[in-house]
Amino acid sequence: MTDAAHSTQDRPTDFSSALASVPAAGNRRAIAMPAHLKFFYGPMDCGKSTLALQIDHNHARQGRHGLVLTRYDRSGRPTITTRVGLAHDAIEVTDELDLVRLVRQQWAAGRRVDYLIVDEAGFLNPEHVDQLAELVDESHVDVYCFGLSTDFRSRLLPGAKRLIELADEISAIQVEVLCWCGRPGQQNARVVHNRVVREGDTVVVADTAVDDAVRYQVLCRAHYRSGDLGEPGERVGRGQLTFDDAAPGEPTVRAERTHR
Ligand SMILES: [Zn+2]
Repeated sequence: MTDAAHSTQDRPTDFSSALASVPAAGNRRAIAMPAHLKFFYGPMDCGKSTLALQIDHNHARQGRHGLVLTRYDRSGRPTITTRVGLAHDAIEVTDELDLVRLVRQQWAAGRRVDYLIVDEAGFLNPEHVDQLAELVDESHVDVYCFGLSTDFRSRLLPGAKRLIELADEISAIQVEVLCWCGRPGQQNARVVHNRVVREGDTVVVADTAVDDAVRYQVLCRAHYRSGDLGEPGERVGRGQLTFDDAAPGEPTVRAERTHR
């Protein structure tokens, strides 16, 4: 599948620490078990939201209580939706939302909060990430963040930048999205009238309310740089939807997925 010469970008990520070693519920403060701030990142369509919900499920099964948060979810509602059909109610992280206060309000209402799952974390404000770090250090809440690292200009998103600065652990999600040429997709290209656009308003890759002329396509770095989108025929490969299959309101992100 991969050879030893591959870069860290596409090296398979070991999620066992996140998925397997879920501590049982208990008084974490009494035993001074350190909490962690973790950031899992990858390009569009690489399964980030699915992994987020899987980790939430695994923790909940251990009797732990968490909150699920999102930012600019692609459904336009405070819900984590995944392209494999899973969905979970979520709290929308607005600019004004103070995450420390949010957790304290839960405690004041008698509800435990052992962990937070934050989807679309690349779009967080830096202040939000600072609040997450405070929750980890001061309140021993485990925080799992998932999101894009870069925008369509190939620049770090504000939330991703702050997470890279502060997180205990940063993991590239195993890339399962390929450029049309077959190389691992790294860049979330904004395509306007079939041309790659590298400047313009920041965010919102997750926004579905885009003009028909605007879409996003995952490209390898070389083809992001050259702006080569491939021939339409080349973009329709194994396991790949055609543009016509896009559901109404869905961004037409089309990238061939590998089947491992
Ligand atoms: Zn390519």
